Amino acid sequence: MDVATSAPLAEAVVDLAAVRHNVQVLRAGAPGAELMAVVKADGYGHGAAVVGAAALEAGATWLGVCTIDEALQLRAAGITCPVLCWLHTPDDDFAAAVTAGIDLSVSSRAHLDAVLDAVAAAGRPARLHLKVDTGLSRNGAQPAAWADLLDDAAKAVADGHAEVVAVWSHLARADDPQDPTLDVQAARLNAAWQAARERGLDPIRHLANSAATMSRPDLHFDLVRPGIAVYGLDPFDRPVAESPLRPVMTLRARVVLVKRVPEGEGVSYGHEWTTPRETTLALLPIGYADGVPRGLGRDGRMRVLLGGAIRPVVGRVCMDQVVVDCGDAEVAIGDRAVLFGPGGAGEPTAQDWADELGTIHYEIVTGVRGRARRTVVDGEGQV
Ligand SMILES: *Cc1c(COP(=O)(O)O)cnc(C)c1O
Repeated sequence: MDVATSAPLAEAVVDLAAVRHNVQVLRAGAPGAELMAVVKADGYGHGAAVVGAAALEAGATWLGVCTIDEALQLRAAGITCPVLCWLHTPDDDFAAAVTAGIDLSVSSRAHLDAVLDAVAAAGRPARLHLKVDTGLSRNGAQPAAWADLLDDAAKAVADGHAEVVAVWSHLARADDPQDPTLDVQAARLNAAWQAARERGLDPIRHLANSAATMSRPDLHFDLVRPGIAVYGLDPFDRPVAESPLRPVMTLRARVVLVKRVPEGEGVSYGHEWTTPRETTLALLPIGYADGVPRGLGRDGRMRVLLGGAIRPVVGRVCMDQVVVDCGDAEVAIGDRAVLFGPGGAGEPTAQDWADELGTIHYEIVTGVRGRARRTVVDGEGQV
C-alpha cells in the first residue's frame, strides 16, 4: 500500500493464533460439516489472505468472499482451496472467475446466462452455487423463480458447461437462534434442494453463518460459513470471558507528545472538555480518518489502556488525533496505548465500542483504515 519508513504510529495487530483457535472452536462445534471461513471485505478488516491461510491451516476447507475481485485476490496470493463469491452484476468478469476455478453464486437466470456465456472463453465448466431467497429478501432467487433457474442450470450441466455444487441461502435472524424464521428458512432451503434433486442434480446445502454455526447444529448441513466468529467476535455479543472465541484484532497507537496543562484549559476542537485541574495530557496519532468513530468522543465514552491503567480520551475525536487525560501518571512519548483488543488486560473491546455507539462489532473492525498499519503476529500476546 504505502512505503513504510518508520515504526507505525497506529497499528491494527492481527493475531493468527487467535484465528486458528477460533476456527478450531467452530470446527469442533460442527464436526459433520466442512467449514468455509468468510474473508470478504478484506477479512473483515483483518487481511483476507493472511486470515484465510491461517483458517485453512486450522482445518477450514473453503473460503468465502463477496466479489470476484476479492476471490481473484485470494488466488493471486497463492490460495488454491475452493473459493465462493456471491455478489455480481451480469456484466462482471465471469470468464476470469471460471478460469481461476472460483465457485460462483447465481441468483437469477440473467446471471446464469452471463456465467454460461463466459464458460466457452474459460474452457472449463462453471462451478455454481444456486442461491435461493428463503426469507432475507436480499440476494437469491424467489421460490417462484426457482424452477426456471433449476431447469436452465440442469440443461447447462447436461451440456457439460456447469456443475451445480450447491444450493444455498442466508439467514435473516440467526442471532436469535429460537426465532421461528430460522426453521421457515431451513424448510424453504430443503424444498429448493429437493427440487434440484428431482432434476437429477446432487448439490450440497449450506445456510449457517457464525451465529447458526454456534447455536443450531441442525442447520449445519454440509458446510458452515462463519465470518465474524473467525475474527473472535462473539455473534451473541457475549463478553470475552464467557465466549469460547478469542478476538483477533488489537488497535493500538504510540504516544507522540506528553505535556502538563494547567487547570481550566479547553481540550480539542470546540472545547467540549476543560481540564478540571492541572493534569498530564498524552496525544495519540489516530483519529476518525483511521477508523476511530467520532461519535466515541462524546460524553467521555472512549477509554484507552495506557501506562498500565484505563484512561479517558477527553474532548472531541479529531481526524488524526485524540487526547488522553493521564492525571499525574508517568506517561512517556513512545508509550503504547491500546484502543481496543481482546480485553484480557482490561482494555476496551470492539464490542465495547459497538455498545457505546449503538452498532455492531462488525462495523468497528471493518472500519479500521487510513494510516492504521496492519501488523500480523502469531500468538505473541497482542497487548
Ligand atoms: C457475511 C456472510 C456470512 C458470514 O456471516 P457472519 O455473521 O459474519 O458469520 C455468511 N454468508 C454470507 C452469504 C455472508 O454474506
